[in-house]
Amino acid sequence: MKIQTCEVCQKEIQTKKKIMFAHIRCEHCRAEYELKSEAWRWYILFPFVSVIFAMFISINILKTDDIFLKMIIILGSAGIMYRILCYLGFYFHFLCYQLRKKG
Ligand SMILES: [Zn+2]
Repeated sequence: MKIQTCEVCQKEIQTKKKIMFAHIRCEHCRAEYELKSEAWRWYILFPFVSVIFAMFISINILKTDDIFLKMIIILGSAGIMYRILCYLGFYFHFLCYQLRKKG
């Protein structure tokens, strides 16, 4: 999916993984980008929200005493939630990047 348009070459910067990175690079012109300061809060908040969501699932929905199974479900649902949040972030442009300043 498209993240944003490259400021240097005007081509689309895409992501395949749908997870956010602090730094990305334009595939076309190799221009380096960093996460904007406004986007950092999402960068910090998304993993936190994902884990809370996974804990909620585990406590409210999952009725098992198998701790190993619980761990897998927590990790799995946190991972899925994180990807959904990142996807929404890119889609609604909460997650945006600026050209990396040199030096
Ligand atoms: Zn570019």
